[in-house]
Amino acid sequence: MNLVLFGPPAAGKGTQAKRLTAERGYVQLSTGDMLRAARKSGSELGQRVAAIMDAGNLVSDEIVIALIEEALAANSRAPGFIFDGFPRTVAQAEALDAMLGRHGQQIDCVIRLEVDSQKLMDRVAKRFAEEGRADDNPDAYKVRLDAYIAQTAPLLPYYERQGKLVGVDGMSDVETVARAIAAALDV
Ligand code: AMP
Repeated sequence: MNLVLFGPPAAGKGTQAKRLTAERGYVQLSTGDMLRAARKSGSELGQRVAAIMDAGNLVSDEIVIALIEEALAANSRAPGFIFDGFPRTVAQAEALDAMLGRHGQQIDCVIRLEVDSQKLMDRVAKRFAEEGRADDNPDAYKVRLDAYIAQTAPLLPYYERQGKLVGVDGMSDVETVARAIAAALDV
């Protein structure tokens, strides 16, 4: 089972991906986490993406596609993947379909976490206070939300056409959302 957790920044994708990893053994592939790790390690890639990420903009398709390609190769025995924060553009989605196809696999399900904008603002303000992520500050978050609307939301019709899109109410607490995701996956 390969699934995409889809939704705007702070919709709860990372939290739910970690639960699915613990409960089902799927491997979480978060390009955001990979990029943050690259920055922490001080690598050349990390230095190249730092300012782009802090401003809330998307890094290039080439960079994130290469990260996913490496991660797929490194986890060839995984029982399934949870793509978290990837794909974020139609070009990334097409590249993902092609990469999985080369491994005889496909995306089976795209879970769209639906959260209204007031709730997103509340969550991100709380996370900024608790974790201090530079891109959670209100200006950068607005850029991220705009990038989601302009570049990532067009993926919805892409996956809808493939019959893979399932909407899940992401407004409730972590447990309730997790149950709704499990129900969608276990039909
Ligand atoms: P996230 O933790 O998924 O919200 O990602 C944090 C930041 O990393 C984003 O605001 C982008 O700058 C960058 N990033 C993560 N994933 C992608 C992606 N799939 N495409 C482009 N940029 C990404």
